[in-house]
Formats: sequence, C-alpha cells, structure tokens
Amino acid sequence: EKTPSKHFIRQAIDEDLASGRFDGVATRFPPEPNGYLHIGHAKSICLNFGLAREMGGTCNLRFDDTNPIKEDTEYVDSIQDDVRWLGFQWDNLHFASDYFDQLYEWAEQLIRDGKAYVCDLNAEETRQYRGTLTEPGKNSPHRDRTPEENLELFRAMKAGKFKDGEKTLRAKIDMAAPNINLRDPVMYRIAHVPHHRTGDKWCIYPMYDWAHGQSDSLEKITFSICTLEFEHHRPLYNWYCESLNIHHPRQIEFARLNMTYTVMSKRKLLQLVKENHVSGWDDPRMPTLVGLRRRGYTPESIRAFCADIGVAKFNSTIDVIRLENAVREHLNAVAPRRMAVLDPIKLTITNWPEGKVEMMSAINNPEDESAGSREIPFSGELFIESDDFREEAPRKFFRLKKGGAVRLRSGYIVDCHDVVKDAEGNITEVLCTYDPETKSGEDTSGRKVKGTIHWVSREHAKQVTVRNYDRLFKVENPDASSDTGSFLDHLNPDSLTTLTAYVEPELTNVNAGDRVQFERLGYYVVDPDTTTDEVVYNRIVPLRDTWGK
Ligand code: ATP
Ligand code: MG
Ligand code: MG
Repeated sequence: EKTPSKHFIRQAIDEDLASGRFDGVATRFPPEPNGYLHIGHAKSICLNFGLAREMGGTCNLRFDDTNPIKEDTEYVDSIQDDVRWLGFQWDNLHFASDYFDQLYEWAEQLIRDGKAYVCDLNAEETRQYRGTLTEPGKNSPHRDRTPEENLELFRAMKAGKFKDGEKTLRAKIDMAAPNINLRDPVMYRIAHVPHHRTGDKWCIYPMYDWAHGQSDSLEKITFSICTLEFEHHRPLYNWYCESLNIHHPRQIEFARLNMTYTVMSKRKLLQLVKENHVSGWDDPRMPTLVGLRRRGYTPESIRAFCADIGVAKFNSTIDVIRLENAVREHLNAVAPRRMAVLDPIKLTITNWPEGKVEMMSAINNPEDESAGSREIPFSGELFIESDDFREEAPRKFFRLKKGGAVRLRSGYIVDCHDVVKDAEGNITEVLCTYDPETKSGEDTSGRKVKGTIHWVSREHAKQVTVRNYDRLFKVENPDASSDTGSFLDHLNPDSLTTLTAYVEPELTNVNAGDRVQFERLGYYVVDPDTTTDEVVYNRIVPLRDTWGK
C-alpha cells in the first residue's frame, strides 16, 4: 500500500506538534448509528485510523448517538463489524450518550455563567428570529431570563414537565453574528422518546454541535476531522470549548467523497432497501461496506482506493472506475484463475480418441508463482463461449471461426472444419480437429495462432449460478434529477443478470467469500447464498471496463 503524501491535514498535525499545541495524535471516527456505513465513511475511517497508525497515536470509535429517533443497535453492531473488516481496531469504544450527564452539568454551568438560556419559541418561530445570510436575526423575547429562572426551567425540562418542542435550551452568543450557527444555537431539545442505550432516563437530548465537540474534548481528541459542511460550525465548536474552558481539540475539515453512478445519502440508501429496489443493505450493488464486501471487494482494495483519492479541501466527484480498478489491481495479484463458460456452445473434437480424458496442467496465477498449478480434465467434447465462435468472421476476429484455428487455454490448438445446425439454422455444435503437437507447455509444432479461448470439458463441467452485477444506476449523477423526478428514475434495469454457467470442477470446491478470476471474463466471489446443492458466484467486476462500450 502507498504511503500517503503529506496532505494538508498531515501538515496541520506537524505544525501543532512542532508548536507544542498538542503532544500527540488522538483522532476518532464518530458515526451516527442510523444506517450502515458506506464507501464515503471508509474514506473517513482510513483517514482517522490511518493518521493515528502513521503517527503512533490513537483512534477511538465513537457512536454519535444523540438522536434517539433514527438510531438502532442493529447499526451499532454492523458499524463495528465494518470497521474491523476494513482492517482497523479502535483504541477505545465510546458512545456520546455516555456523556449525557456530563453534558447536562456543563449546560447548567453555561446557564450559571449567563451563556445559555431557556427559550419558549417553537421551531418555526426560532427559524424566523434567526434571520438570513443577508439579514441579522432578532433576539428571542426570552433571551434575558436570569440564570436562576433558566436553571429552574432547564431542570423542569429535564424532569419532563414540558411537551416536545415547547422549550429549548440555547447558547447565548450573538443574534447578529454573520455566521448563522452563532445566532444562539439550540443546545437541547425536548423529545419524549426512549434512547437505545439510556432508555427513559432522558427526555431532553443534546444537539449535534453541543454534544460533538464536548465528546471530543472528554476523550482528549487532538484532531477532530470532519467533512466540509462543518466548516461553518467550527466557530461554534471553538466557542463551546472556550466557554467551558476545557481541553480544546482542533477541528479540521476535508472534502467528503462523492462518486459517480452512486447515491450516498443514508436516506436514499434506506429508501432503496425499504422499497425493495435492492435485496437489502448488503445487496452487492449497494455502496455500503456490507454491500461492497458481499460484492467481493477486498478491504485492501478499499484502503488502496482511499489512499489513491487522497484528502482535499474542495468537493469533487470521484469516478467509480477508480474503485473498480482498485479491486482489479488487487485481485489480479491474488485471485486464482479458473475457467468458466457462461453462455456455452458445444465443441466436438472429431479426431480425439474415443473416451479419452487427459489431465491438463493449468497455472493458477501468472502473477504469483507460489499459487502453483492445477489439473483440469480435457476431453473430446467441450463447451466454449458461444461468443467465441463465428461461422463467418472478419479477418480481425481472433477467436474461432470456420476454417480457422484457436488455442484452447492450457490445452491444444484446434482447427474448425464444420458446424452442426438445428432446423432453424442455429449452430448447435462446432466441429474441430486437434493438433496433438500443440499441447500447452510442450508445443513442438511451431504453429502460431492469434487467439486463446477458455473452455470446459462437457462431461466434467459443473453447473453454478452466476449473478452478473452491474452498476445500480445508469447515469453518472443519479442525484441530479429534474424537479419532479427522483433518483429512482435512474435505476439501471439491467443491474443484475442471473445465469447458469458451466465451470471447471475446482470451482465447486469453494467457500463463501472465495474470490477467483474467471479467465477472460472477470473477477467473481462465492456468495453466502451458496448451499451444498448450489454454488452462487457474484461478479465483482469484469476484467476490463466495458461500461458505455
Ligand atoms: P448522513 O447525513 O447521511 O447521516 P453523515 O455524514 O452524518 O451521513 P455519520 O454517521 O455522521 O454520517 O458519519 C460519520 C463520519 O463519517 C463523519 O465524520 C462524517 O464526516 C464521515 N463521512 C460521512 N460521509 C462521508 C463521505 N461521503 N465522505 C467522507 N466522509 C464521510
Ligand atoms: Mg448523520
Ligand atoms: Mg453526521
């Protein structure tokens, strides 16, 4: 794996270590447990855990579980699995909800210091008072309550004396601040909703900005790395830490990952699942980590992709081809080669000795000598890919044609002399002779042919189910829909093709998760749907990018 060059975050870290602002690197990955992680999260994970690893620091996994309405323990479990699968281990596991007591005490402290107040405006009124980018906001009529009055009201909020939305606790900053986030942001809202960890203990919940920086501070995080949308929250992040006079991490923003042919918002991913456009969060077409994993992506390839795209300060959209190339590159190095025929036509060798079966030696991986070789049965009746045969073909067609010759991979050169057709004129069988002097590895014929094709022995081939996956969306930017349309209008109707393939025997001697290259076709992984009766292969990626061709 590449060592990342010194991007701007690395430089900021170097500065702060040199100046003595911090004496080490402590980062965290802070997901909200309200969905499954996706490839965008992988970028954040690789960055946070990667920096800690590189700098000899620590990285925590912290669940930002401050919004009980959308959160679930199902997500808590899957997120931990995903981080481990990617190859990282957190130093400490935390939940923002573990800090609810401390956050509450700090809120009382700000109230006593005259820096927070209870406000009776409802959500709509709060919005109206806030003003706009061009107009300052107006002070809430409740802004000048005394600390005593505020304390009493805040305690009553906590005690459940008010209904949802009736009151909020707000920081008292500046309603005329050019940065809208500083216009008396809400710190607590009332929600009579049980929490997946704290149960019924709380009916007031901290807002993101109030909980996040303080959680960072409690964990003695030094670099709080987040996506660009939070740049305008940084002054508030700093205000809270300064007002409380607590350990003050440095927030640094980077561009979130956007990718072509994909949607990444959790809301949209949830909709795909709920409306059965996909089979679940782990559908191999989903950009979720469980989806990519089932698709056959390796953790190494995802880490390499994240290193390759780097870290920037400006948003951009990454071509999904770079992700696909990352897995091609890794699997080219490690995946054993096998032969599978997806759309078979029979090839009969008319001069093959009746009933003879010859074991042919085939190299498992030309990129990896240690992978060794295997034996595959060769006989007088084979299947080849129907696409690899034409009765008549242009001169540049280097596969098999009538009157032409081709090499059968790890086998012999065959010459085609005739075809058999059914009543409708469809070719049902290709008739060839083989050249006994041309056995692969011991060819004494001196013959040269341009094409090599794959094959399986008809009698020895096994049948497997193949799921050929393609991109889930047929346009580069499914999010850019018209006013009336939806991203769902851009679903690719051909994103899954299921077929039965004939494969060399070795391909049924496998376990779920095994990855192979079907020679000349693509990389495939054994799906967990596999049973003793049926082996199921998912296409990870075709060998070459064929999209749009
Ligand atoms: P949503 O708004 O859909 O819930 P989120 O960004 O709020 O998504 P979190 O679970 O809060 O999701 O994200 C956890 C961490 O992952 C955050 O630090 C966030 O910045 C980062 N992250 C999320 N999406 C991306 C992305 N596309 N690229 C890079 N980092 C991301
Ligand atoms: Mg979120
Ligand atoms: Mg978030």
